[in-house]
Amino acid sequence: MTSKDIMGEEQFSDGPPLGKLAPSGGSALHEVNSVGVILLAEPRGFCAGVDRAIEIVERALTKFGAPIYVRHEIVHNTYVVNDLKTKGAIFIEALSDVPPGATLVFSAHGVSRAVQEEARARGFQIFDATCPLVTKVHVEVAKLNKEGYEFIMIGHKGHPEVEGTMGQLDSGIHLVEDVADVARISPLQTERLAVVTQTTLSVDDAAEISAAIKARFPQVRVPKQQDICYATQNRQDAVKVLSPQVDILIVVGSPTSSNSNRLRELAAKLGTEAYMVDDASELQEAWFEGKARVGLTAGASAPDVLVQQVIDRIKALGAVSVRKMAGIEETLKFPLPKGLKLDAQGQALEVSGSLLHHQG
Ligand code: SF4
Repeated sequence: MTSKDIMGEEQFSDGPPLGKLAPSGGSALHEVNSVGVILLAEPRGFCAGVDRAIEIVERALTKFGAPIYVRHEIVHNTYVVNDLKTKGAIFIEALSDVPPGATLVFSAHGVSRAVQEEARARGFQIFDATCPLVTKVHVEVAKLNKEGYEFIMIGHKGHPEVEGTMGQLDSGIHLVEDVADVARISPLQTERLAVVTQTTLSVDDAAEISAAIKARFPQVRVPKQQDICYATQNRQDAVKVLSPQVDILIVVGSPTSSNSNRLRELAAKLGTEAYMVDDASELQEAWFEGKARVGLTAGASAPDVLVQQVIDRIKALGAVSVRKMAGIEETLKFPLPKGLKLDAQGQALEVSGSLLHHQG
């Protein structure tokens, strides 16, 4: 370990919280024309839903052996997907690509009712890794639909979570991606209209679109707290605090990751140069020229090992310390579906009862 590494480790654990640092513009570090400090956003990286989804696939592999089929990328991260592939997971989009009798996992983004029904009809052993916070939205849609509601969904067209949520009903959900879309939708009635959202949106953009919906449909039912999840909210809040204090912000996340993209966009909106990288190899030296303070965060599907590799690469460019900002500590953990218990040594227990474990 080099002296730089030791220094970095010490400051990582003992350095002052970010809020106590001098404002970026007045820092002595700015007189040095190279990276001086890496400031880590808190919280960053894995959320409870991603943790659970990956654990479901890993436990299924341990318990039932390879291959385990997964519908869509379990979470939107290249490293995670490749790692599970090497362990024996096979990622598919069409259920017709899954052989009879196979074990199938639904991804964290959730699936439509049509996909659930097709999977059951094909007789697969199913484990549902849909994030419980997405399932909560599905349950709400089903409940309000029974009460005669039509829905306006704020989300990104083509995202699997949006397809899953809209696919909870045969009809009656209108997608809006931005404020302009609000003027275009034509609900059949306006007495019973409710708003639902994708869980990984920009909090500020969703609030703006919600306001436009309310202006056009004053009776619309808007949830007190949007369906945007705690992890998305917390990571965006952390970027809002961090961005003004750094010269550049790096977001670790894959191009398909909605919440990671939103973090980069948010920093850019706040006037901070920001880049998203899938891993350390995508970092470009030129980005860091004259940047004394580098902010670093990670989307909810980006594993810590990638953050560590990015830190090492930025240290190689001259960073001498790593400091963690003060932030919310996340302790939420979601229970696993039944049927995936392992013994104390991490070995498979005998399967008892029905092999069909399905939630939501
Ligand atoms: S980002 Fe939010 S909704 Fe998505 S898996 Fe994580 S906790 Fe669940």
